[in-house]
Amino acid sequence: MAVTLLSEQPLTCHACDAEIEGEPAGLGMLLFVRGDEVVREELPLCGRCALAISMTALDRIFFEEEEG
Ligand SMILES: [Zn+2]
Repeated sequence: MAVTLLSEQPLTCHACDAEIEGEPAGLGMLLFVRGDEVVREELPLCGRCALAISMTALDRIFFEEEEG
């Protein structure tokens, strides 16, 4: 019986691979569609990437609105 404790593994940023100390600053979210099922996966991000990705997401929403 093997129990893996996530807290014992070094947490790394999904975007830049930087090690995250303590709690991740943000979580990226990916959605996969597998057949009829939607799988949601949360990815740890460091502070810099969490900010950059949220800005990118806002940008994308803005551009989609602009292009109609
Ligand atoms: Zn990062």
